Amino acid sequence: MERRNAWLSYKEAEEAEMEKLAKAYREFLDKGKTERECVAEIVKEAEATGYESLESKIKKGEKIKAGDKVYAVGMKKIIALFHVGYEELSGGMSILCAHIDSPRLDVKQNPLYEDTDLVYLDTHYYGGVKKYQWVTLPLAMHGVVAKKDGSVVEVSIGEDEEDPVLYITDLLIQKKAAEVIEGEKLDILIGSRPLADLPDDKKKDAVKQNVLNILNEKYGIEEEDFLSAELEIVPAGKARDCGLDRSMIAAYGQDDRVCAYTSLAAMLEMKETPKRTGCCLLVDKEEIGSVGATGMQSRFFENSVAELLDGMGCYSELALRRALRNSSMLSSDVSAGYDPAYAEAFEKKNAAYLGRGIVLNKFTGARGKSGSNDANAEYVARVRRIFDDHDVAFQTAELGKVDFGGGGTIAYIAALYGMEVIDSGVAVLSMHAPWEVTSKADVYEAYKAYKAFLLDA
Ligand code: MN
Ligand code: MN
Repeated sequence: MERRNAWLSYKEAEEAEMEKLAKAYREFLDKGKTERECVAEIVKEAEATGYESLESKIKKGEKIKAGDKVYAVGMKKIIALFHVGYEELSGGMSILCAHIDSPRLDVKQNPLYEDTDLVYLDTHYYGGVKKYQWVTLPLAMHGVVAKKDGSVVEVSIGEDEEDPVLYITDLLIQKKAAEVIEGEKLDILIGSRPLADLPDDKKKDAVKQNVLNILNEKYGIEEEDFLSAELEIVPAGKARDCGLDRSMIAAYGQDDRVCAYTSLAAMLEMKETPKRTGCCLLVDKEEIGSVGATGMQSRFFENSVAELLDGMGCYSELALRRALRNSSMLSSDVSAGYDPAYAEAFEKKNAAYLGRGIVLNKFTGARGKSGSNDANAEYVARVRRIFDDHDVAFQTAELGKVDFGGGGTIAYIAALYGMEVIDSGVAVLSMHAPWEVTSKADVYEAYKAYKAFLLDA
């Protein structure tokens, strides 16, 4: 049974809507290259459509009621948005979930060194990067430096056309596959010009001294401030249309900002007060196992729902348990798209294809479905019906061949509450590469799917 290519069904009006969404999505990718930048942009867009901080509403003693749009943020890296519906919250919510962290190189806490008149920043990679892909690319540095005086300096170098870029070198000669690039070799080249007229005891670090002066002038930071910094090295440059027919998008961080952005767009689009409370939960730390205070394994979401119930005047431990257990979730993350060049990695009947719409993964995992959530059949049927009712193009897939592919997601963590949850998302080519490719049609169908889910789940 083959699913139809979504492009074949579009009329002019839909194509215009798809292009508009694709443009907004590319702009979001350019503004949000780190989880912090994503949260800042999401708050901005949410407030522009009438969302308010749940925390500040509670502080002001305002009661939360149907029709209210509120958001909660944790440590500037995880965010939950709620559009409160008419029905009791203990009856459950319709939840769109995705992650906003992406594979990258993180600058170490003591990163700076000079060797033979070249200066480097040492990194520790974050998530499943394929190390050989990160050398010899224009790179940018995004992040924050938190200073002892409590101030936080935002850093962004390499995106403006006038900015310098950063770089990781590679050898001229071809290396053997087994020794391609080691993690410790992913050091960022950031300077080569020594400072003149230094006293003798400083001369051996003259290039490093020059770089430190530049950082101090531009950001007011000293070498020790790296100790309390979060600096992320990401590919420099903007998201681009891809293909002569402009049918695709090539960009950094589409895993999983493609699902995060389309979920957010659907959420912000919901104008009328829904029957059931709608929720969009965008989390950090998925790429390293969903651990930490801003990952899905934290109590952030549960605590936010507790606050929401309390703000509505109906908090109890049981009401909270019921709100979570009675919820339905689309837990969205990207699927590796079928790539004819690597056909051996896929089982063709159960692969995700570019252009065939949002992907449903009843289960993930590999080698005996290990670690998978495995959505309930009745729930899969309900989701199918919602998508069909709203003319959403969808396909089903596994994450690669039975004993070959696999991959972790966050659905199993939400499932701990006993809620209905299924893995879904957008097909991506070259997943986890510095530049990943998606189909505009799939971006559009995901957005349509999320809108339909918020209405009818
Ligand atoms: Mn992902
Ligand atoms: Mn990933």
